[in-house]
Amino acid sequence: MREQANSLNAHQRGTESVDLLDSLGRILAAPVLADRDQPPFSRSTRDGFACRSADLASGEALQIIGQLRAGEFWTGPALEPGQAIEIMTGAPVPTGADCVLMVEHAVQHAVVDGTRISTARQIAADENIVPGGAEARAGATLVPAGTRIGPHHIAASAACGYASLPVYTRPRVAILATGDELVPIADDPLSHQIRNSNSYSIAAQVLQHGGRPVLHPIVRDNLAAIKFSIAEALSCDMLILSGGVSMGKYDFVEQALLNLRAEFFFTGVRMQPGRPVVFGRLPAGDGHRYFFGLPGNPVSTMVTFALFAAPLLGALAGQAGGEIGPRFVEAHLASDLQAKPGLTQFLPAQLKSNSSGAAVQPIAWQGSGDQAAASKANCFLVVPEQAERLSAGTAVRNLLFS
Ligand code: AMP
Ligand code: MG
Repeated sequence: MREQANSLNAHQRGTESVDLLDSLGRILAAPVLADRDQPPFSRSTRDGFACRSADLASGEALQIIGQLRAGEFWTGPALEPGQAIEIMTGAPVPTGADCVLMVEHAVQHAVVDGTRISTARQIAADENIVPGGAEARAGATLVPAGTRIGPHHIAASAACGYASLPVYTRPRVAILATGDELVPIADDPLSHQIRNSNSYSIAAQVLQHGGRPVLHPIVRDNLAAIKFSIAEALSCDMLILSGGVSMGKYDFVEQALLNLRAEFFFTGVRMQPGRPVVFGRLPAGDGHRYFFGLPGNPVSTMVTFALFAAPLLGALAGQAGGEIGPRFVEAHLASDLQAKPGLTQFLPAQLKSNSSGAAVQPIAWQGSGDQAAASKANCFLVVPEQAERLSAGTAVRNLLFS
C-alpha cells in the first residue's frame, strides 16, 4: 500500500495558470487566500435601521439622522444614544450602532421633525450585522490546494481578485477500445457492426475527473495488435481499455497485459454490470503506468469507470484525498424491486426529490449493453449482493454519475 501511495506521489504533476472561468472542474494547485478581511467592514445584512440595541430595548422611539446605501460609508456625525441611521443591505454599519432593526420590524412614527422608529421586538446586539473579518481573516485559506474547482470556489476566488488560478496539468489518459465489431462513430456501420461509443463515454468521464483524454484508434481482437497498441499508449500517464476482458475466445486484453509484464491488483469484481473489470500497472521506461481493462458493454464501462478508474485519476490529477471517491446518495425505493442475489447490482435509475425526501425508481432495461436506458437515468441504484427482493420504501444507496 505504502509503495503504491509513494508511486502516486511520484507522478510528475505540472501546474499551469488558467483564466478563472477556465478553471471550472480543474484541480487547484495552490490555495486561494483571502486578500483582506471578509467582510472587509461590519456589514448590514438587512435593509433597516442601524442603532443601539439598548435604545430599542428601552422602548423609546429613535430619531433617524440620515441614510446609508450600499457602496457608501457614514461620514455624518457620530451616532448618539436615541438615534438611528437608515441603512441598506451591504452597507457598512456606522460606528456606535450595534444592531440593525429590519425595516419589516420597525414601527414608524411621523413626528414634527421627521420620522421616528421603534419596535415591539427584542433585538439583540449584533443582530443583522456580520462583523468585519467574521467570515475570514486576510491571508486565510478559502479554497485549499487539491480542490476540484466548482462555481462556489470561483465565487470565492473572484471575491479576492483572482483573475486566473494555478491548476495541475491534466494527466494524459490513453483510451483504447477493442473489438472486431467496432467502427469509428463517423462511419456508417454495416448491420453487424456497432459504433465505438465507449471511447467517447470514457473520454467524457476522463474530462469530468480532471484528465486529458487521448483517443487511440480502434484495436482489433488480436493479441499482437492489442500488445502493440498498449505499448504505444505507455507514453500517457494512465491507460483505459474497453472490451476484451471477459472469458470469450477472442478476449485477449488480459493476456496482452500479462505478456507486457503487467502486475494485476484485481481481476474481476463481484458486481453487475462490470464483473470482469481488471486493474493493475505496467512497467514503463521511467516507472510504471496504471491501467484499467473495463468490460465493453457500454453501461459496464461507465459504471466501472465511475467506481474504480475515476478515483485513481482524481489522485493522479492532484485531487485531495478526502475528496476522492465515487459519490452515493441514499433514497427510498419508489416501487418493489426483484433482485438477483449473488452480485452487487448497479441499475440505471431516476432519482427525484419529493416532499418526503429522495425517491429512486429503476428504469426498465435490457442489461449492461442498454445505452438507451442509461441515457434516461441520473444515477445507478445499488442493490446489495444478498438482496432477493426489496420492497417499496426501502432505503438504498445510489451512485451519482459525476
Ligand atoms: P466485450 O467486453 O468485448 O465482450 O464486449 C461486450 C459488449 O460490448 C459487446 O456487445 C460489444 O459489442 C460491446 N462493446 C465493446 N466495445 C464497445 C465500444 N467501444 N463501444 C460500444 N460497445 C462496445
Ligand atoms: Mg469484444
